[in-house]
Amino acid sequence: MRKYLTYILMLGFPLLGAQKKIEKSSYQQDWTQLDKANQALSFDADIKLSESEQMLDKKLFQLRKQLLHDTESKRISIYNSSFNELKPLIENSKLFNILQLMPKGGLLHTHSGGVTDAKWIIANARKYKECYVYDQKDNDQFIFGQLAFFEAGKVPKGFVSLDQKLNSNAGFEKELLELLLLKRDNLCTYTDYWIEFEKRFKRINLLLPYRPFFKEYYLKGFQDLAKDKVHHVEIRYVFDELYDFQHGKYPLEKTITDLQDIVKQMRQTEPQFSLKLIYSSFKFLDSDSIENQLEIALKLKKKFPDMISGFDLVADEAAGNSINSFQKNWTKLNEMTAKSGLEMPLFLHAGESNSIFNKNVLDVTLLNNKRIGHGLNLIYFPKSMELIRENGKLVEVSPISNQVLGYVSDLRNHPARVLLNNGIQCSINSDDPSVYGYEGLSYDFWVAFVYWELDVKALKKLVFNSINYSSLSKNEKQQSIQYLNTQWNDFVQKANQELK
Ligand SMILES: [Zn+2]
Repeated sequence: MRKYLTYILMLGFPLLGAQKKIEKSSYQQDWTQLDKANQALSFDADIKLSESEQMLDKKLFQLRKQLLHDTESKRISIYNSSFNELKPLIENSKLFNILQLMPKGGLLHTHSGGVTDAKWIIANARKYKECYVYDQKDNDQFIFGQLAFFEAGKVPKGFVSLDQKLNSNAGFEKELLELLLLKRDNLCTYTDYWIEFEKRFKRINLLLPYRPFFKEYYLKGFQDLAKDKVHHVEIRYVFDELYDFQHGKYPLEKTITDLQDIVKQMRQTEPQFSLKLIYSSFKFLDSDSIENQLEIALKLKKKFPDMISGFDLVADEAAGNSINSFQKNWTKLNEMTAKSGLEMPLFLHAGESNSIFNKNVLDVTLLNNKRIGHGLNLIYFPKSMELIRENGKLVEVSPISNQVLGYVSDLRNHPARVLLNNGIQCSINSDDPSVYGYEGLSYDFWVAFVYWELDVKALKKLVFNSINYSSLSKNEKQQSIQYLNTQWNDFVQKANQELK
């Protein structure tokens, strides 16, 4: 026994220890290498942080840690709550204040009819004596709460003056607001999301082409975005002829020249503000109608090459036609662009779905599709992911929209995390903030930062992607990036001061 102990003491332990040490260190080396190899595949691997950015990174990490600690101690179920439930918590958080200070660059994915605050819509619409609201049960033509402008004497049955209705019925303003917003009260209630979603658009559809209102609507929308430090906007724009009662209908071009005037107005206070329009039509239309739409889009692009950046098809992917069913149109589009010398890139919504039977992401992989709207089910198509990464296409991610429309509940499980870690470039977007009851882009960044455990490197890459993958021309992009760089450095300095 003593001999054995002597052996162990003299030889065994040191030997065993040495062996263990070698094994541990080589295992640990492999582990560290693997960790680095994974990080090197991430979308933000090329970003190197300055000293002050690293400082901010540590502070933001602590801020999130504290926030999660606080919610846990108050037993707030942050992962199983809807955006609507968490909105007050978000607004009262220090993190939200900091993210509001952060420049966001561009908003690449939003829709006409979804950009401007619904409360403002009601307050402003009621100022027009020619504004009416439908206060009868839904029928084939109109739905309850639908807003519209009419000339005196030409008001359809069932419509009443909006201002009078709001004055005579104290509860109606709240009721109408609820009818314009889509919310998930909690993550368990059943909602027929897309039916309800589309009703929200129908309620304001007749309001937006009325030229005086249209001008105010976009000015307000842009001002809110600029306030939230967004200096470039790309709208999926569904064109409708503007009109007023003195002149009647205006040609489609008027929409663009009016928007250009609004941008000019914006530039008086936000000199870098810019706008591009993505001509949008609908997936539920047939191939012939899409051909017609593509022709109109090209015609507008020819007249306004700096304003029309591309083409998209929107609406519920589960209910509409597949992108593949429009093959004939995409071939024709190639012929038309070759002939005219104009480029008309696609910015299709694709993969806004949880189903592998929706194969729209295959089409956006193959087509000249620069950016992909949503791409939620892309993670189930690994070869497409690979090609999209290799071809430098960007996925426009809208986390809050995805939760409101029922694609993701616990935002920790958002597919964008898989995309980002696999090196697919993304940007953060708000899609239809007015329908979801908020303004700006800070809310979406808040949920992405908290739920996806982002760091400053990731935030910076997401923000700069929004300009680098925008439709701005080479020149415009250069200026925009320069401006963003200055803004970013200011932000890092200010945020570091705020978080002392
Ligand atoms: Zn969208």
